[in-house]
Amino acid sequence: MLTLFDRMDAEDHEQVVFCADRAAGLKALIAIHDTTLGPALGGIRMRAYASEAEAVTDALRLAQAMTFKAALAGLDYGGGKAVVIGDHTTTQREALFRALGRAIESLAGRYIPTEDMGTTTADIEWVRKESRFGVGRDEVFGGGGDPSPMTAWGVFCGLRACLEEVWGTAEFHGRTVAVQGLGKVGYALARYLHEAGTHLIVADVDSTRTQKAAAELQARVVEAEEILTQQCDILAPCAAGGIFNRDTIPHLRCRIIGGGANNQLLTAEDGDALHERGLLYAPDFAINAGGLINVADELGPGGYRRERAKAKTETIYSTLKTIFAEAKRRAVSPHRLAITLAQERLQAVRQLRRLRAG
Ligand code: NAD
Repeated sequence: MLTLFDRMDAEDHEQVVFCADRAAGLKALIAIHDTTLGPALGGIRMRAYASEAEAVTDALRLAQAMTFKAALAGLDYGGGKAVVIGDHTTTQREALFRALGRAIESLAGRYIPTEDMGTTTADIEWVRKESRFGVGRDEVFGGGGDPSPMTAWGVFCGLRACLEEVWGTAEFHGRTVAVQGLGKVGYALARYLHEAGTHLIVADVDSTRTQKAAAELQARVVEAEEILTQQCDILAPCAAGGIFNRDTIPHLRCRIIGGGANNQLLTAEDGDALHERGLLYAPDFAINAGGLINVADELGPGGYRRERAKAKTETIYSTLKTIFAEAKRRAVSPHRLAITLAQERLQAVRQLRRLRAG
């Protein structure tokens, strides 16, 4: 059995901070993967994890993915993630997130939090009462608000590159797209796809969302367990991670995979398996970077500028074009290539630091 240090060593994690505050009900950890490019930026996820080991694994995996995401998006931030163990629907949030805010402040800017699954902009404001650090703030505080619409826009732009790669044209009209999960990202993406003239197939465990999509977007609704095997041109996963694995890959009937969900592949080998099956997989951390770009923009010159964040998000199209072209040239899967490109950027900047004078 690997120890925590073995795992940190194997994936090059810098730091893991465990935080507890009994009175506040806080049990959390902050994983800082790599700060070569800048402070670690990443969301706070709150979930009733089945075990502490599961929470640690999630934090480590997510923090590493944030490093790759920021590096590929051309941002000067590193990768980190905080994980709060507990029921995300709790209404007792002030003490909890203020206690976490103090822990974040103690890191003096090495980790900058934002919202993620189970947390909202309101939680970031509790953190900000105790810490100078925290983005993804509400518009009334000068922030960019919920980053999900920008994530969806980035996925839509990235899918254009996928269409061009497979069919030589970025035309959505008449294509069939299966969307898994109609939450903040999935629904916004489905709307863009509907406006672009696609036929939608949708699934969500929450039937109010699928009913809305059927009425508003003329989407065909299928059961949650059937969405991955629908015959379609594009499959857009916008719910949970780990969905592409040995069991699911042989049954996929799409040509392109590109969606907002994080950590879609169970293992890196599953990215190779998709490639071998002839499916074009847009690496999740490349195509879903719009939200990160949006929250990072709050730290840009003059504070948040929506047009600047949008323009930067639209570069996801060219990032994917590069990934697909280079993957072909180096004869590897797009997932492997995307990791390599991110690592090459980190390596280049590490070397720069070595040359810094005096
Ligand atoms: P969300 O909670 O708003 O939406 C998730 C949706 O998926 C919900 O409607 C839920 O009912 C549904 N769902 C859950 N399990 C399902 C299943 N088995 N089958 C079908 N539907 C299911 O979350 P979100 O913010 O839209 O994020 C979606 C994914 O995108 C997550 O993996 C998240 O980590 C990732 N992501 C989000 C952002 C962002 O800006 N919000 C940015 C990057 C990545």
